[in-house]
Amino acid sequence: MRVAKFGGGCLRNSTDFLRVVEILKRERSEPTVIVVSAIFGVTDVLHNGTRFALNSEVSIPLTINNLKTRHYEIIEATITDLARRNSLQRAIDEKIQRLERLLYGVAYTGEVTESVSVLILSQGERLSATILSGILEDNGMPSVPLESENIGLQTDDQFENATANLAVIQSNLQQCLLPLIKQDIIPVITGFYGCNEAGKPTSFGRNGSDYSAAVIARAMNVDTLDIWKNVSGFHTTDPKITDNALPIALLSYQEVAELSYFGAKILHPRTVEPLRGSAIEIRIRNIHAYAGCCTIIKHQGQYEADVIKSIACNSNISVLKVHGAGVGYKPGIIGEIGQRLFIANVNIYSVITSQTCINLLIDRRDSSRSISALTSLVGGVIAGIDVRDDVALIAVVGEGLLTTKGLAARVFSAVAESGVNVEMFSAGASEVAYYFIVQRDDMEPAIQAVHRTFFEQSATT
Ligand code: ASP
Ligand code: MG
Repeated sequence: MRVAKFGGGCLRNSTDFLRVVEILKRERSEPTVIVVSAIFGVTDVLHNGTRFALNSEVSIPLTINNLKTRHYEIIEATITDLARRNSLQRAIDEKIQRLERLLYGVAYTGEVTESVSVLILSQGERLSATILSGILEDNGMPSVPLESENIGLQTDDQFENATANLAVIQSNLQQCLLPLIKQDIIPVITGFYGCNEAGKPTSFGRNGSDYSAAVIARAMNVDTLDIWKNVSGFHTTDPKITDNALPIALLSYQEVAELSYFGAKILHPRTVEPLRGSAIEIRIRNIHAYAGCCTIIKHQGQYEADVIKSIACNSNISVLKVHGAGVGYKPGIIGEIGQRLFIANVNIYSVITSQTCINLLIDRRDSSRSISALTSLVGGVIAGIDVRDDVALIAVVGEGLLTTKGLAARVFSAVAESGVNVEMFSAGASEVAYYFIVQRDDMEPAIQAVHRTFFEQSATT
């Protein structure tokens, strides 16, 4: 059995939907559970629609018409059976009407709770699952659309960054999906969100349907998780940074976790989390190159001759610096900082400390909020706090990197030879990655230099 996830980039228009159906026809011999994102751009429309509605109701008809037109167009261009087309349009109308009411609710109250916000954002997946399932049926493949809360995709109460309750989901999903699969009915499940114990929708964050698909794959204990994209899988670095970036055939869960967390935009950073401890193989496949190469991700790592597999980067980070002569000695100081940032809803990516300075890697959007959260700590052991917004993080990733002699020297010599200064680095914290911080303008030259050393033959000979 397999889970196949189709992201918004694979669901842009009617041609894309028909392409997805062709793929599923070709691979029909294997029982498949489908997970979908919203149609491309729809979650953004819903997000902006909510923001506009908070100020005034005038934008609501525009939001609604935009969504109606896009979904109707797809139905009209793909569904041949007239009765089916009508009933699908009615199903879409009903959902869009509910959305419209929700948006007026937001406009009249001038408020939106976290759970209402998720309810609004999740409409995109509900619409696309309904449509894809209808198109499959129209092509002679029995199918049923399923919404997360109706199949018991239970999570904790973190409305915008929920964590799946795997044990509960496993029992709910097996009960719900196995009878369908036995009857050769293809379930099409909404990605991106689940629900808490009380049944309120909770989301896995933007681009979270990769994580949904992984949760469902684990719960159903499938052999393979196919994640379909409109690009080919992981590369030795972002192809926008160098034309010489090469596709990667094989990665481990851990390598993918590091690469995704630190900037590679291929998968949601939490995708491998529910798969740990399983042997489920993830395949990143390109919808535009059916038989072409893809990246396979296995639970176990494999050493490559030159160890480094890929270089990821993130230019949207800041370094929050907490200075004080005794910060390395004072017990509880990191706990106190962490607690305050937690209350301010700031996520810490990583911490690099010395005796006189604690450096916290955070998202740049959180930098002023972090300073406000910590200012009252200044005085006593903390002498001052400042933030560096002009930096970028580079992560060099590969199984075996910690135990390979001379590797760090090669990475940092390459960076030094390109004239770039490394402001901070961390090695040893992860078994498969080094991280370092450079000035933002130096990020691309530094990556190009490391890439030349490890992946471009002419530079190493
Ligand atoms: N549709 C959601 C988003 O755009 C989830 C996803 O695409 O994975 O963030
Ligand atoms: Mg998406």
